[in-house]
Amino acid sequence: MATRSRSKQEPVEPTETCKQCRFALFLKESIECRRNPPQVIYEGSTGFVEHRFPEVEVTLWCGEFRPKLTS
Ligand code: SF4
Repeated sequence: MATRSRSKQEPVEPTETCKQCRFALFLKESIECRRNPPQVIYEGSTGFVEHRFPEVEVTLWCGEFRPKLTS
């Protein structure tokens, strides 16, 4: 019985990352994901409530990725 030869594959860098996503908003020092409304964050020690969009990195991605619009 013939066996299939397994070729070694190089790891593939993902091309669909936050960097190419239409929901990424590039700010001065960070990138925010604007796919969903801001999250409410309660700081228990101070009692403050904040609203923030999640910070992401250019190499990350998620299942909601959509390519940037080109027009
Ligand atoms: S890939 Fe996902 S986490 Fe990254 S910017 Fe797009 S929607 Fe947000």
